Amino acid sequence: MSEQASSFPTTQHADDTSISHWHMRAVRADLLFRATDAPVRAAIEDILRDELFEPKEGLTAVGSARLSYDRAHFMVTQLRARSVDVAQALRALFLLHELVAPVDGTACTVLAIHFCLAIGSIVAMGQDKPELRSILAELLEMRSVGVFLATELGYGNSVMSLETTARYDRETDEFILNSPSAKSLKFMPNTAFPAPKIAVVMAKLLSEGRDCGVFPFVVRLRDVEGQLLPGISVTPLSEKPAYALDNGITAFKNVRILRNHWLSGPESEINEHGKFHSRIASRRGRFLAAMDRVQTGRVCFTSAAVALLRSATWIATRYASQRLVSAPNGRDVPILGYRNVQADLFRALAEAYALTFAVRELQDSFVQSSHDSHTFNLVAIFKATVTERVGELLPKLRERCGAVGMLSTNRIIDYWVYIQGIITAEGDNQLMLLKIGRSLLDTPDGADPADVPPTFDGSDPRSLLELARYRELRLRRLLRQQIAFSRGHCRDPLVIWNQNVSGVMELARAFGTRLITEKYYEAHTCLDANVRDLTLPLFQLWAMNEVTTHAAWFLAEGCISHNTYRALPEQTEHLLGKIESSLDVLLDGLGVSNESLRAPIADDYLQHYEKLFASGS
Ligand SMILES: Cc1cc2nc3c(=O)[nH]c(=O)nc-3n(C[C@H](O)[C@H](O)[C@H](O)COP(=O)(O)OP(=O)(O)OC[C@H]3O[C@@H](n4cnc5c(N)ncnc54)[C@H](O)[C@@H]3O)c2cc1C
Repeated sequence: MSEQASSFPTTQHADDTSISHWHMRAVRADLLFRATDAPVRAAIEDILRDELFEPKEGLTAVGSARLSYDRAHFMVTQLRARSVDVAQALRALFLLHELVAPVDGTACTVLAIHFCLAIGSIVAMGQDKPELRSILAELLEMRSVGVFLATELGYGNSVMSLETTARYDRETDEFILNSPSAKSLKFMPNTAFPAPKIAVVMAKLLSEGRDCGVFPFVVRLRDVEGQLLPGISVTPLSEKPAYALDNGITAFKNVRILRNHWLSGPESEINEHGKFHSRIASRRGRFLAAMDRVQTGRVCFTSAAVALLRSATWIATRYASQRLVSAPNGRDVPILGYRNVQADLFRALAEAYALTFAVRELQDSFVQSSHDSHTFNLVAIFKATVTERVGELLPKLRERCGAVGMLSTNRIIDYWVYIQGIITAEGDNQLMLLKIGRSLLDTPDGADPADVPPTFDGSDPRSLLELARYRELRLRRLLRQQIAFSRGHCRDPLVIWNQNVSGVMELARAFGTRLITEKYYEAHTCLDANVRDLTLPLFQLWAMNEVTTHAAWFLAEGCISHNTYRALPEQTEHLLGKIESSLDVLLDGLGVSNESLRAPIADDYLQHYEKLFASGS
């Protein structure tokens, strides 16, 4: 965080801000961010200050893609020069996403697919085969870009049923890759831009006429000149607004793959007699093992999503602090002085804190053990709930900036497009919610929901925690009853599912909210008393918003009285005022700097646009 950021006027604040800033820096270093990450953070931030990352306008779609590929390549070579190995260190990989996403979303996705999915799959399932070592070295130096081809025209979320085939040819001891149907065309991977590219392709392994399940195969797509190799064809898909990723349609015709370019994992093999064997009994199990690296991608993109929210909140608030409008008392005041503006900005600020605490928990769990069931659930639920929440807030932040919020250089509108991609890719949010909701139904309740519902007390942070736990348990119990009722009246599983699908998603969201609340509460109680006082109104505002969102449900359950309900707007208004008085410090906590973002409205916007006008371009 630069000093420039913390000294920018956001609002009138108490005289003792320097002490508060000092306390806040301690929070930022230890809780919102990790002190041990500081050297890697500094290295990536330094690289992002290079002029290559200056915003460029008027580029064609291909020109924009080229710029993002150049930036991704530059980032990798610079990090290598500084001995930062993001392929080996998960924390460095998470940081890379958090810092690159707000500057260039396309470059961030290129890097995510390259490291998480392509390199990650080869390392995890390549068995350290000598034939793969040179390919790995090529990817680590980014002499070729790694891509990942799973989705097909006919199979998105149902990708397990994909149709691309890799037939084992015993005579040559190779596999032959084909796209046998229109539905099997690989759809969406970033194959269109003509850079050197090596793909990890998901295909159905056929051996002796038998379908052995889906496996990854390493296939060189484009040579050192970026030219497609024989048997491979790619057609670019149409453009996406503000997102230059070169998504394409890719097909294979009799492409030969060496035996050792099959990423078999430790459990599967084809023996010297050409017989396939796997210690993973089911095809579903083999598919899940093959797609395992998507988990890392989910953590990285969830981290990126929260970073987008931190940056957008910071940019919008700094703009709101300098944009003047006339007030009823005849004076000009910044729009930040109005409660309607504060309501959206401070809600985003509170959410940025809540989700940052949540994502730190997710990262810590993943680093400790990426495969236990607790982490598995955390990855799925945080990917879905965190990115959904960020997706809801970004348009509000854009709106509060007015016209300048529409400009790409001011970032927020581009973030909103980017978050749409994150919501769909690496596990569609709705599908993740359904999966988690379903698994929650089978999980024992532990303690029964209390017969007497907890009562919400806005001044006590613990009371939100109790409410969140109660809501999750109660929804689960009600849903079980509802499903039992449906089953008693109908035999068609689809009808039964459809009668309960919204309840399943609601339960999953309640689970996500409970986890986020727990993390926020835990972080809050760990704080130094001075900082806790400072950040308490933010937590209370967050709590107030959660209660308001489900106020009807809480009223019906008796968790809030009519009087509490009626008092919610007034209490919210009171909290906005408190947050306003320490906003400068709270904003500082987000750890954002305009040195890499370069958003004109986050600095002196009048001067910027005046200069732009004077220059005529
Ligand atoms: C920017 C971007 C980059 C991508 N990059 C890659 C890449 O590099 N490699 C790659 O392989 N793929 C890539 N993809 C594809 C991505 O993995 C798929 O988009 C994703 O798996 C979802 O599939 P789909 O888009 O076909 O959605 P669909 O499967 O058609 O789902 C659309 C909607 O239908 C509903 N739905 C679907 N199935 C069910 C169900 N069983 N029950 C209830 N509702 C359902 C849900 O509401 C869902 O949101 C990328 C996508 C995007 C957006």
